[in-house]
Amino acid sequence: MGNIVGHFINGQNVSGAGNRMQDVYNPATGEVTRQVALASKERVEEAIRAAEAAFPAWRNTSPAKRAQVFFKLKYLIEQHAEKIVGMIIDEHGKVYHDAMGELTRAIENVEFACGAPELLKGEHSKNVGTSIDSWSEFQPLGVTAGITPFNFPAMVPFWMWPLSVVVGNTFVLKPSERTPSASIFMAQLALEAGLPPGVLNVVNGDKEAVDTLLMDPRVQAVSFVGSTPVAEYIYATGTANGKRVQALGGAKNHAVVMPDADLDNAVSALMGAAYGSCGERCMAIPLVVAVGDETGDAVVARLKRQLEVMKIGPGVDNSNDMGPLVTKEHLAKVRRYVDFGVAEGAELLVDGRNIVIPEHEKGFFLGGCLFDKVTSEMTIYRDEIFGPVLGVVRVNSLQEAIDLINRHEYGNGTCIFTRDGESARYFTDTIKVGMVGVNVPLPVPVAYHSFGGWKRSLFGDLYAYGPDGVRFYTRRKTITQRWPSSSLREGAVFSFPSGVE
Ligand code: NAD
Repeated sequence: MGNIVGHFINGQNVSGAGNRMQDVYNPATGEVTRQVALASKERVEEAIRAAEAAFPAWRNTSPAKRAQVFFKLKYLIEQHAEKIVGMIIDEHGKVYHDAMGELTRAIENVEFACGAPELLKGEHSKNVGTSIDSWSEFQPLGVTAGITPFNFPAMVPFWMWPLSVVVGNTFVLKPSERTPSASIFMAQLALEAGLPPGVLNVVNGDKEAVDTLLMDPRVQAVSFVGSTPVAEYIYATGTANGKRVQALGGAKNHAVVMPDADLDNAVSALMGAAYGSCGERCMAIPLVVAVGDETGDAVVARLKRQLEVMKIGPGVDNSNDMGPLVTKEHLAKVRRYVDFGVAEGAELLVDGRNIVIPEHEKGFFLGGCLFDKVTSEMTIYRDEIFGPVLGVVRVNSLQEAIDLINRHEYGNGTCIFTRDGESARYFTDTIKVGMVGVNVPLPVPVAYHSFGGWKRSLFGDLYAYGPDGVRFYTRRKTITQRWPSSSLREGAVFSFPSGVE
């Protein structure tokens, strides 16, 4: 990999010369490993032009032929999995098996895209009137765009572009400037798999690139995944410019632990959900809601024990459970939240602030932190921290837990640990959250369902990928057709047509 990550436009690597540059870090060492070019407006417009030019021929390519590209792409990604995982670890910091898990999820979206001919089958009705047939078909939109966050450099772009492209659109992807390499490499693989130049373009960049995509009238639809303030901005600006927008935002996910839960299993699951990927997941569990003080005491005791043996270190060492945070700035922000929690009166039972990893002293590491007696007024309860900080809130009943979760501004994911079907059923029915687990801490929908939150975790009507993704990237057209036979000539009809005539 060169020292500058540029762009990928019209099937070509574009160096990024003349663009502004930003440092890219290895979070485990704290060193600058390369720079990423930040695309100018003109550079983004070049990518949009390439996507616009590639659209007519790609739209008219049969869905089965388009799908063939994705069968080949799946094979190529699997062949290069180690290299892609290496890029993720190098720029994001997550541990090896977590990066491989992310890549597997990306591949599952490619597999779903391979079903394009089936996904695009329309709806047909014969004889809606005399000699009249009617059908709905789903047509591509044109040039579409995606803007993605740092925390899933391989998976989140794959929630977007494979589906958009396989249904006949062309695409401009703007990955996170903190983790830019995987997207460029995977676009090169797509070209190798047979994707025509211009169908997928990748521009690295920041707000200037994003704003160009949001304002340009040639871009028909924008998918965004990132923090809530930016998601809200993307939705407002994109829709004001006449685009279809789905903007997935931040989260603060609660796990309810009932007194009847299998506590050992629940706590093991919570460890992974709270501290996996250093808490930098929108489906992470940063809050445990323990029902009853006895449950709270038992959960806290087990969490403390497991935190003592959690292994922290660089992601390249596969025996580590948790790697570093993504940047120095983010580390400072998460540490400030821990300070806030202490100042606001939560009980800091495990303090990870002073951790030092030998030979990685400059890495952006923070040890796992555990707070007890967190209350809903505290900043550490309300804000998305996006770090390895778990807070325990104590309540007296399931209803109190549900009311608490339903009052929170975010509604991305949640789960309940219980052995009682009635509690689980009531919880899944009444909770105002988009993705719900029962004894499943990270209920991330598989590729053939769709992903999205409620409340301020999603702006827009349709979830990402799966069936909602197909709807998002296509426009319905309904055609009503008559071929009158010579025996069925009518004069002028002035009444409104209906199917029962
Ligand atoms: P972010 O909002 O800072 O950045 C996301 C993207 O938006 C990046 O490509 C970035 O370049 C761009 N961007 C940033 N500021 C912008 C601005 N002012 N104007 C225009 N574009 C801008 O998010 P992040 O820190 O990269 O990712 C973490 C966030 O993403 C967390 O809040 C997390 O919950 C969220 N996230 C949500 C989901 C989900 O599915 N709901 C999934 C993953 C991450």
